[in-house]
Amino acid sequence: SGKDIATPTRTREVLEKYGFSFKKSLGQNFLIDTNILHNIVDAAHLDKSRAVIEIGPGIGALTEQLCRAAGRVIAIEIDQRLLPILGDTLAPYDNVEVVHGDVLELDLAALFRDKLKGYEKVSVVANLPYYVTTPILMKLLEERLPLENIVVMIQKEVAERIAAKPGTKDYGSLSVAAQFYAETEVAMVVPASVFIPRPNVDSAVIRLKIRDVPPVEVEEEGLFFRVVRACFAQRRKTLLNNLMSGLFDKTRKEEVIQMLADLGIEPSRRGETLSIEEFAQLANEAVRRQL
Ligand code: SAM
Repeated sequence: SGKDIATPTRTREVLEKYGFSFKKSLGQNFLIDTNILHNIVDAAHLDKSRAVIEIGPGIGALTEQLCRAAGRVIAIEIDQRLLPILGDTLAPYDNVEVVHGDVLELDLAALFRDKLKGYEKVSVVANLPYYVTTPILMKLLEERLPLENIVVMIQKEVAERIAAKPGTKDYGSLSVAAQFYAETEVAMVVPASVFIPRPNVDSAVIRLKIRDVPPVEVEEEGLFFRVVRACFAQRRKTLLNNLMSGLFDKTRKEEVIQMLADLGIEPSRRGETLSIEEFAQLANEAVRRQL
């Protein structure tokens, strides 16, 4: 509608009224295109029975659309200068609460308990600050919060790594971690022209549909992720060399070779060719053989 925050005119008005200057160090690139916002909100499949956590509301461009689509919105913003602005722009909505803080420091489980009681389906929807995309996503996934979807605007390159399949150059430990916790899908690629100021990288919206159970059975999750990281540590090295230099005791090389043979995994393969199932087999077998 004409009253949307996310139009170039309204955004400039708000920024001028408050004398706001962008902080590059906080990844402040605000959205000024309502079509993009509608697409993001649609990808999250919201309704009034659902709640949303937004990370980095800025001046409220996306927040406002979330308030219209969801039952409740909790928006976490690190920049104190934005709090009075949000008080102003979000005044028409009574289903939103702005929490001042760094999302990486906040106790999100407590936030669920204190502020989202009664909501069974909670999603994270955000245009993320690009300097901390990966730590934020890993925190959301690893804390096993009862989330339904994570729908976020991030760098296109990171979105491609998250959704990458085995054997591709983008496939890495981030792909395995994300796909272990969620079904991943690049929802759309977004041009730099929909932000002010324009970011220097291309952007994309990624949707992570959180899994109820992981796609593979893993006996020791910590070891599984150590195996994955070791296998990707040096891309030009073989699987065996990466495992021996980054994970297993060097005196037990023969046993590792035997284990790979028993699993039918060629030791000369590169880590990036292994599927999540193969990483899981490797980790589970290493537990059994006490390697
Ligand atoms: N949602 C707004 C929009 O789409 O126009 C702003 C998005 S902007 C890319 C990222 C926002 O995240 C900024 O408002 C920034 O201040 C905030 N931010 C940066 N680091 C943060 C952190 N660690 N915790 C919470 N918010 C953060």
